[in-house]
Amino acid sequence: MSARFAAVLPAAGVGARAGFAENKVLRPFGGASALRRSASAFALHPLIGTVAVCVAEADRAAAARETAGLNGVIFVPGGETRTQSVKNALEALAALPCPPDYVLIHDAARPFVGRRLIDGCIETVRQFGSAVCALPCTDTAVRAQCGFIAESVPREGLFTVQTPQGFAFPALLEAYRKIAPGDNFTDDAGVYAKYVAPPRLFAGEARNKKLTFAEDFIMDETRTGIGVDTHAFCAGDHIVLGGVRIPHERGLRAHSDGDALCHAVTDALLSAAGLPDIGHYFPDTDPQYAGADSLALLKEVRAIVEREGWKACNVSASVVAERPKLAPHIAQMKRNIADALQIQENAVGIAAGTNEGLGYIGRGEGITAIANVLLRGGA
Ligand code: MG
Repeated sequence: MSARFAAVLPAAGVGARAGFAENKVLRPFGGASALRRSASAFALHPLIGTVAVCVAEADRAAAARETAGLNGVIFVPGGETRTQSVKNALEALAALPCPPDYVLIHDAARPFVGRRLIDGCIETVRQFGSAVCALPCTDTAVRAQCGFIAESVPREGLFTVQTPQGFAFPALLEAYRKIAPGDNFTDDAGVYAKYVAPPRLFAGEARNKKLTFAEDFIMDETRTGIGVDTHAFCAGDHIVLGGVRIPHERGLRAHSDGDALCHAVTDALLSAAGLPDIGHYFPDTDPQYAGADSLALLKEVRAIVEREGWKACNVSASVVAERPKLAPHIAQMKRNIADALQIQENAVGIAAGTNEGLGYIGRGEGITAIANVLLRGGA
């Protein structure tokens, strides 16, 4: 029979160092939380049958939401310390009808773990009974005293330790059962080293970093989105574009204020985040949006997109209309959109042009706006 593997993800920390009020691993960034990313990596691995997530009772519902749809996830009450959380998880695995042969323990706060690292851990633990992910020190290491370098530490043989850390399950369980009260371990390699044997290292990855400080949540991941909107002219005395009321001998037919530019920017934001379009959030059949201020709706959508873990970087838009003349109003439109998205004014570009008399725009029947936005992942 093939060996059984389980994973344990301690996720009961409060993330005080990241300066967040809530558990940092539940906070979405770049479209998914650290817990979602870490749990997916293990749950989707074909050899891993169970993923035990250690969470505080208060976070249990949020953790269940974040891991929805992943196979084999079970929840274990988090302890006062990481060591206690892992012990709870190991006891829960031991109580399963078929306990695992090997267990891989991984900090949920290291969301960039990938298939290669998990494969490396499995291969090493099968061969040596233990497998600790580690990176050789490439920076100069020193020991400091009162802010001054006391001595430099030779780099040779020096590693920084990461997770996952894999162990033969019965050996690690036994080691954990031996831990004396007051014994303090920062990871499982320490427990194994004290009670079983020196653990075996395998090669980690620089990108497998631990999210500790707020800046760690800013990701390189970016997404672009496009939005297009058209409104037809009708009887009226003004139009609204980019939140600016522009006097005109005609109006724009719409359920809302007809701000085609804001609608295009709104759809671009939603599209970049992979969310449904503006009509889903603000249906034009809903009387509460009659004559709605589209700039205010854009602000609401900024909040929706931010809850998904995205922040706008810039907007580039174009409005195509024969009349009225838009040039005198562009600066105010830029200020309005920048304010709605909480970005710098110079991160909003708006071009205005005519359609050279061609088509519905050329005949003065309507107006079209096109917008492109860039989002960056970041909590
Ligand atoms: Mg519209």
